[in-house]
Amino acid sequence: MEQNTLAYAQYLDQQDSLRAFRDRFVIADEGLIYLDGNSLGRLPQAARQRARQVVDEEWGAQLIRSWGLGWMEMPTRIGAKLAQLVGAKPHEVIVADSTSVNLFKLVLAAVKYQDKRKIILTDDLNFPSDLYILQGAARLAGDDITVKVVPSEDGIHGPVAQIAAHLSRETALLTLSHTVFKSGYTYDMAAITKEAHEHGALVLWDLSHSAGALPVDLNAAGVDLAVGCTYKYLNGGPGSPAYLYVREDLQSKLQNPVSGWMGQRRMFDFSLQYQPEEGLRRFLTGTPPVLSMSLIEAGADLLLEAGMKAVREKSIRQTEYLIKIWERWLAPLGFTLNSPRDAARRGSHVSLGHPEGLRIDKALIDAYQVIPDFRAPDNIRFGIAPLYTTFEEIYRAAAALKEIVEQGIYLNYSADPPEVT
Ligand SMILES: *Cc1c(COP(=O)(O)O)cnc(C)c1O
Repeated sequence: MEQNTLAYAQYLDQQDSLRAFRDRFVIADEGLIYLDGNSLGRLPQAARQRARQVVDEEWGAQLIRSWGLGWMEMPTRIGAKLAQLVGAKPHEVIVADSTSVNLFKLVLAAVKYQDKRKIILTDDLNFPSDLYILQGAARLAGDDITVKVVPSEDGIHGPVAQIAAHLSRETALLTLSHTVFKSGYTYDMAAITKEAHEHGALVLWDLSHSAGALPVDLNAAGVDLAVGCTYKYLNGGPGSPAYLYVREDLQSKLQNPVSGWMGQRRMFDFSLQYQPEEGLRRFLTGTPPVLSMSLIEAGADLLLEAGMKAVREKSIRQTEYLIKIWERWLAPLGFTLNSPRDAARRGSHVSLGHPEGLRIDKALIDAYQVIPDFRAPDNIRFGIAPLYTTFEEIYRAAAALKEIVEQGIYLNYSADPPEVT
């Protein structure tokens, strides 16, 4: 069958064993091609049901009694569910705060614990908020603590050899995005963690672009610390709280720098002296955002039901499919592949660059009802969320890109940057 055709895309969808999962999400507009699940995942049908339940029955009817009927355990109970998705033990993951705040808590805890070591190591592919947090945490940790940012050579691939070369007895912490937000490059978690451990450094992975997109095995890799958000591939909803992971044996050794009553031992004694809980609850600070936290579970359940192995297999087939179309149609029109060509080193989004990227992006959204997202200076990212993204959507998005450039449709749009991308 001719491959760059709508019929072939539809044939691939018919063959897809995960195809029924799309119906488990709210698809309010069948005409909209949504390829931004790596920024904000779709709404699971079950989350909508859960929202009604938590508002009407738990808040509305049970009122404060609901704290004793499950709200108090929600951070650990849902954390245990997320733990299954990232290869951790149930008591090693807890839901709290935002990714940035969790990163702050764990970085400061790690640097304090590492005592004489002075360097926090990261790379320039990391998420900007992560770098801001590192800068702020280093400032608080002490005048002699520095953040070393290792540059990527091509802006696409992680600087693996250079990171290894920078590791030393001075390294307190190595922290990286497991899958980087622009190019979608995915680090070899086990190999890099092992290398850092040989120098006595702790390792913290940001899983925001990995969890729910590909299998992660924190325990197998011996990872010390991790954080991640729940509103991307986990479909937890806008601004849903994030999670953090601390390896079992480190939990009682690390101190939460934002010590609050939710992490206090026997909190309802209202003791005036802070004394942290034994386990991971010590990394809680204030009252959990019950409404938004309760909506995380539905998305995690769907991923567990589908199985991360099947999700990953489909994700690779779909990113490969898009890249093949790029080779045939889009490379000749000036699009560059700004993601790794090697599927093993690629997460679940594909970045295409074009000098007119921003105007092309605007045309995609406005004239074709295709929603990707745009990351400066010229990246159009196509997020593939295998539970609901179809081959047909990928085909239509690529065909739109071709048309927009061939017919000069992007010329109708201004090159002024938008407020939110
Ligand atoms: C999305 C994302 C975040 C989000 O941080 P918030 O504090 O939840 O806004 C952090 N790090 C990475 C790598 C991300 O992709």
